[in-house]
Amino acid sequence: MFQAILIEKDGTDVRAGLSTVDDDRLPAGDVTVRVAHSTLNYKDALAITGKAPVVRSYPMVPGIDFAGVVEHSAHPAYKAGDKVVLNGWGVGEQHWGGLAEKARVNGDWLVPLQSPFTLRQAMAIGTAGYTAMLCVMALERHDVTPDKGEVLVTGAAGGVGSVAVALLSKLGYEVVAVTGRPEEAGYLTALGAKEVLDRKQFQDPGKPLAKERWAGAVDVVGGQILANVCAAMKYRGTVAACGLAGGMSLPTTVAPFILRGVTLAGVDSVMCPRELRVEAWRRLADDLDPAKLDGLTTEIPLSDVIPTAASLLDGQVRGRVTVAVSPTLA
Ligand code: NDP
Repeated sequence: MFQAILIEKDGTDVRAGLSTVDDDRLPAGDVTVRVAHSTLNYKDALAITGKAPVVRSYPMVPGIDFAGVVEHSAHPAYKAGDKVVLNGWGVGEQHWGGLAEKARVNGDWLVPLQSPFTLRQAMAIGTAGYTAMLCVMALERHDVTPDKGEVLVTGAAGGVGSVAVALLSKLGYEVVAVTGRPEEAGYLTALGAKEVLDRKQFQDPGKPLAKERWAGAVDVVGGQILANVCAAMKYRGTVAACGLAGGMSLPTTVAPFILRGVTLAGVDSVMCPRELRVEAWRRLADDLDPAKLDGLTTEIPLSDVIPTAASLLDGQVRGRVTVAVSPTLA
């Protein structure tokens, strides 16, 4: 038996609770992992609160990522005792996920824990941090180097945004952070932002082209804010877009793309190819300051996951939330 957050559906009523589950109910998979830490990502909060159709079948254990120790493996790459990390692949959406003491998955979805991270640190980074790294790598692929000018990060006080600010500043970029929580300016400056702007400046519909300012941008918000960011990109600048915290729409025009050669680079972490994942984790080991990682992380027990999910969607959670599932394993 093991403890898990279980989302169940009764008619149209979707409910999440902390349950004790029999091992026999674990899904099919060739690797069974004792989960040390999981995290609470934006998508997990949507799944737990039922605010968006993230969960594809019920009952579901949410948790799109976890770090833990292999208990049993029939996969050639892993043996009992190995420390592993999982991000995405539909885990926590269509396959039972990491907000539980045990998970059983396809071994191809796992990556070995990247040295020098502990299991806890790997989840302080979690899917949000690994996605932030994928965004930085997308900017690099499009030649956004520190000498090209300022780089904007939206939703900066959230999980992806906080790690993106820390990474970009360590890499030598001039980072400008956008937040709806001006009271977090000190936090963002400590992570490495050289300037903090109020989200309000980006919320109203603007012109198709604005004054050129940003050489690059990491956007987690979408909607009107992303449209305004695109309009103010410098010639041949790139926006790495990964999120929809402000909405699914994109009310822009083609002007930034056809007149300024701007690139809108989409970033997906869920089905991201293995080579890129491994590279992203290697880069995180090099480019993320561990002291900053500690400063942006809050740890909660499994029993606090459900109330914290609601706070996260209300925009009240700062940085990353790790869930200490079986912390003695870390
Ligand atoms: P968080 O909730 O931690 O952060 C989101 C931040 O967005 C908030 O902290 C807030 O930042 C800002 N925000 C929230 N609501 C609004 C709004 N209505 N308008 C403008 N800004 C808003 O979430 P994560 O950082 O974990 O995830 C961010 C986004 O990235 C989500 O949409 C998530 O689904 C997506 N994502 C996508 C991935 C992918 O593979 N493509 C992987 C991981 C995440 P502030 O308070 O600073 O304004």
